[in-house]
Amino acid sequence: MTTAPTTSPDTRTATGRSSAGLIAAETPVLAHNYHPLPVVISRAEGAWVEDVEGRRYLDMLAGYSALNFGHRHPALIEAAHRQLDTLTLTSRAFHHDRLAQFAEGLADLTGLDMVLPMNTGAEAVESGIKLARKWAYEVKGVPADQATIVVAGGNFHGRTTTIVSFSDDEEARAGFGPYTPGFRTVPYNDLAALEAALDDTTAAVLIEPIQGEAGVIIPDDGYLAGVRAATTRAGCLFIADEIQSGLGRTGTTLAVEHEHVTPDVVLLGKALGGGIVPVSAVVAHREVMSVLGPGQHGSTFGGNPLAAAVGTAVIDLLATGEYQSRATELGKVLHTGLTDLLGHGVTAFRTRGLWAGIDIDPALGTGRAISERLMSEGILVKDTHGSTIRLAPPLTITEPDLTSALTSLRRALS
Ligand SMILES: *Cc1c(COP(=O)(O)O)cnc(C)c1O
Repeated sequence: MTTAPTTSPDTRTATGRSSAGLIAAETPVLAHNYHPLPVVISRAEGAWVEDVEGRRYLDMLAGYSALNFGHRHPALIEAAHRQLDTLTLTSRAFHHDRLAQFAEGLADLTGLDMVLPMNTGAEAVESGIKLARKWAYEVKGVPADQATIVVAGGNFHGRTTTIVSFSDDEEARAGFGPYTPGFRTVPYNDLAALEAALDDTTAAVLIEPIQGEAGVIIPDDGYLAGVRAATTRAGCLFIADEIQSGLGRTGTTLAVEHEHVTPDVVLLGKALGGGIVPVSAVVAHREVMSVLGPGQHGSTFGGNPLAAAVGTAVIDLLATGEYQSRATELGKVLHTGLTDLLGHGVTAFRTRGLWAGIDIDPALGTGRAISERLMSEGILVKDTHGSTIRLAPPLTITEPDLTSALTSLRRALS
């Protein structure tokens, strides 16, 4: 655990501050696919980042949960350094000595049998879709090219052409057609609608156990168990996208554990790379993953030695249980702090573990405006939609830092 620096954040407003660093960071050659807050980070440790002018900020976004273990966790950095000094890439044309341990660790961690290593979250989702379709044709007996996958409204699964095809976020989808067919959307958290959408063509139900991008939307108790039961009855796969919800964030290793549910396929990413390299994986039952044979799917970088070494170190951290219990315990502090803000600028909030979606009174400004105000308080967050902001600090954050972030939030809302 790293100790928090005590430097107090600069309190100049986001718009009125000096911009030398910003100018250095801005270039007309960069695509405009993001609208970053006006801060230029040049170093980080634990839950804290520092900008080019030496101002410190508490990172309450943690790379959308890619930094669950904080910035530069010593055990992860050590594993990466050690691997950099021995072997970094072989391609899967050859074996290397780090992959078996990584795969076995991931199977143990998830209670599933077989692992397909990839790199980004979107690739894990794409791979899960391919796996489900092939399983539908070869095992379930769906006629060629007829397989459907049922997804939920408000989903976020990544940015590829196929994935945006079943997004209902117009910003993410519009202009990128023609769209991939074979997806059916039902409202999230509606079991009756889900069951009604399942038929002989259904390969899988693909959902997030908690919808992160949508604003940390937590389904009713019993929903995930209901999805499990409905998919089993319908003879289709349950694919849980745990790319953001998984690996300790909610107080359990996987968010589905809150309902004691084992999906057929689990998608992991983000925190699996320890905030160092992109690492993702599809983990599945043997009967499902066995439909993939040599040459039928692949990735040049998937499961590379550096990724496997860092991923194995991540699994070792999770095996201690320490991060899951921190998420649970600090999650209580977060929940209490937000309860105190209800009616004081916060109209509603949802938490599970150390993860919160907070709806701000729109009269106080957009989520973006609140994020900029928080930035001037030394707190980095990101709005999701409209007036909702998401808090997902590193699971390594100290309780005093978390409390001080809540105090800053109160100030930003007053
Ligand atoms: C971030 C995310 C993805 C996509 O991951 P990338 O690494 O950005 O491709 C997919 N699913 C969920 C739930 C995510 O939060």
